Amino acid sequence: MPGDLPAPIVNADSAPYWEGARNGKLLLQRCRDCGTLRFFPRYLCTACGSDHTEWAEASGRGTVHSFTIVHRAALPEFQARTPYVVALIDLEEGPRMMTNIVGDDALDVALGEAVTMAFEERGTEGAMVPQFRRGAGDV
Ligand SMILES: [Zn+2]
Repeated sequence: MPGDLPAPIVNADSAPYWEGARNGKLLLQRCRDCGTLRFFPRYLCTACGSDHTEWAEASGRGTVHSFTIVHRAALPEFQARTPYVVALIDLEEGPRMMTNIVGDDALDVALGEAVTMAFEERGTEGAMVPQFRRGAGDV
């Protein structure tokens, strides 16, 4: 049920990402020196080491690079959700993102399949976490 899982831990590098998620946007960092997009949020560009960063909105579309189905949750708060899917998604813009596949048909996920962003509420303060659903539907 929404909000039954812990809220994300926000730091100075990830605060814009989580604020974007609260507003229904998936934000990626873009290096202002070399243009490389990166995920997850971090201080320095992974390609050139620059700290000149801007934020860019992603389409919310991607494909499944890899996945696993979790039957024994690492944290007790997640045990009631088992079995659930943890996946690596190749975003349309290039970066690879670790996330969950959610929805009634999530366990039928397949490699290379198109997925579309969805959001789940976490915690009690309205935090939203980008997740994905199977299919190339509307974002
Ligand atoms: Zn760079």
